[in-house]
Amino acid sequence: MISAQDAMERLKSGNAGFVAAIQSDGESVRIETPDSGEVPPQKPHTVILSCADSRVPPEVIFQQGCGQLFVQRVAGHVIDEHMRESILFGCDGLGSRLVLVLGHRDCGAVKATLALSDPEADEIPFLDRVRQLIQPGLRDVQEAYLQSSGSARTEVINDAVACHVRATVDEVKKFNFVEPDGLQVVGAVFDIASGEVIFLD
Ligand SMILES: [Zn+2]
Repeated sequence: MISAQDAMERLKSGNAGFVAAIQSDGESVRIETPDSGEVPPQKPHTVILSCADSRVPPEVIFQQGCGQLFVQRVAGHVIDEHMRESILFGCDGLGSRLVLVLGHRDCGAVKATLALSDPEADEIPFLDRVRQLIQPGLRDVQEAYLQSSGSARTEVINDAVACHVRATVDEVKKFNFVEPDGLQVVGAVFDIASGEVIFLD
């Protein structure tokens, strides 16, 4: 186990690397600062709604720096009222014209949701409300999940991840955006193993 002290050292070291990156390669990470030295307004080009999975950090996997992404993260990228308001603010308040719903392979929230209907699955004492929100979007793959095993089950889980991303995209598209013109809502799945982000049709 990593001690709190070691964790703090890692954070400090990571931040030092970040500062060094600003100094050596400012274009990729720095906020554009006006000559006056004032704090610049934020103008993120994309709103990202991502799973909170620690292996899926949007700024890192997209190599975007400060001020470029307006990121919302929660287990299973589910939407509640706060999330809805925050996404609307990113688009109508901050001017982002792209909303990306980002799921990922091996999503624990999706797997735990599929297991809800599996009498042989172990009880999972977490994410009750999150699983309730995910479950309706997985109806089409639930039966295949129960009848599968081994590598076939992994495929079903991958299908379920894509299903849930699409269901979330459909949900975001129903938001009452003040400025819907030019707005795009898209979905993608991050392959943790390869590092590739696969955009869905
Ligand atoms: Zn996940």
